[in-house]
Amino acid sequence: MNTIEKFPVRITNSLTGKKELFTPLTPGFVGLYVCGPTVYNFVHLGNCRTFLSFDIMVRYFRFLGYKVRYVRNITDVGHLESDADAGEDKIGKRARLEKLEPMEVVQQYTEDFHGVMRQFNILPPSIEPSASGHILEQIEAIKEILRKGMAYEVNGSVYFDVKKYHQSHHYGILSGRKIEELMESGRELDSQDEKRDKIDFALWKKASPEHIMRWPSPWSVGFPGWHLECSVMSAKYLGETFDIHGGGMDLKFPHHECEIAQGVGLHNAAPVRYWIHSNMLTVNGKKMSKSLGNSFLPEELFSGKHPLLSRAFSPMTVRFFMLQSHYSSTLDFSNEAITAAEKGFKKLTAALAYCQTIVPDAASQENEELGMQLTKLADDCYRNMSDDFNTAAALAVLFEMATHINNFKSGQTPIEKIAAPALAYFLNTFQGFMLDVLGLREEAGGHDNTLDRVLTILTEMRRKAKAERNFALSDKIREDLKKAGIQLKDRPDGSMECSKITD
Ligand SMILES: [Zn+2]
Repeated sequence: MNTIEKFPVRITNSLTGKKELFTPLTPGFVGLYVCGPTVYNFVHLGNCRTFLSFDIMVRYFRFLGYKVRYVRNITDVGHLESDADAGEDKIGKRARLEKLEPMEVVQQYTEDFHGVMRQFNILPPSIEPSASGHILEQIEAIKEILRKGMAYEVNGSVYFDVKKYHQSHHYGILSGRKIEELMESGRELDSQDEKRDKIDFALWKKASPEHIMRWPSPWSVGFPGWHLECSVMSAKYLGETFDIHGGGMDLKFPHHECEIAQGVGLHNAAPVRYWIHSNMLTVNGKKMSKSLGNSFLPEELFSGKHPLLSRAFSPMTVRFFMLQSHYSSTLDFSNEAITAAEKGFKKLTAALAYCQTIVPDAASQENEELGMQLTKLADDCYRNMSDDFNTAAALAVLFEMATHINNFKSGQTPIEKIAAPALAYFLNTFQGFMLDVLGLREEAGGHDNTLDRVLTILTEMRRKAKAERNFALSDKIREDLKKAGIQLKDRPDGSMECSKITD
């Protein structure tokens, strides 16, 4: 039985609200699409949490042995200030205010975004398509939706006909919104409006004279509606129906609801099999927002330069902090919570450093019960992650494993009593989850523990030499270390203590 079969993944599907067994369309392959950033501003911490949540899923699927194609787009056109297809284009507005070309704005904030993702050790997607690079495909999609009779043209703009769609399909299937209530709520259409109904949404907008980003089309010189790019690019790279679509909770309505309507309108089939939505980040119990002054950028967190922060925190500490809660729960940021996280993270990295020095050897007088206990802990890491990517529960197991590793280090648990296969599985799982699944890499500029590791290897060799009564070797290790400036003292309990010789 391979790892994929041994630890089947269950996902809470936002479409059904239920935890479901994940079965990919093609065995062994996962197609995942995540709505990426609109690159008109610096990426904030809440965005980082969203992309981290999906980074974990990609990493875990790969760790299990799946081949993953991960598509995350860049929105560089068509995202207007209001969800009701009104207001300026967010990028166009920034370009006007900063007197830049729109593509300069796009370049600048895309680079900022990539830089922040790298700092957090969030892996790049397999494909990162941009909306402006797929205008032709979007125009073709609009033609097709018009052909199917689910859209209409007015004065050079094209709108999706939600009521017409709802006659044969279900608008609101994802968000649970009722079309009747949507029709009644919000602003009434006025004589200026071109839409037939206020719930209709733009597929193509004719550009006003001051609108900078514009392309020719059969209907007008204009630009595509925001929701369309994701439908078009996900179908292009993952297929008309694909495995998983993710995004922040705030995108469920209208963005993802509209994506479903467009996908069904285009291909007569539901585009996505599992929808996953990640939850928000709050600060001291309140939603992060610029107007409340409680919104900060990753860079401010890493430098500690923000009135709300007591000091600086490293990217990996923040990453660890975010992994302590499940992606579907809100996560509250506070100085106390992240300071506590830092302590926990240090404990795990210390165990990881020691873990990397242990070489499993054939056991003498095997302790079977201990071997089983360690194997169960390693299995539990997988079980928790396979249970809807429960990083919080997986971390709790890693802490238990760290306690065992510390007992190996102190000699409290004699390592030679554990059968090599059980010990290897335990150690590989601990390291694999820390580094590959949770992506908690060692930080540059931190404490260099290479020397510690080398010393651990040497003291371990000396302990073995003594146990085998090879005193010539054990003495030589001690003498050579002394020449190198390291004093080795034997403790009464059989363990060893290293210290630098100072004169
Ligand atoms: Zn999207």
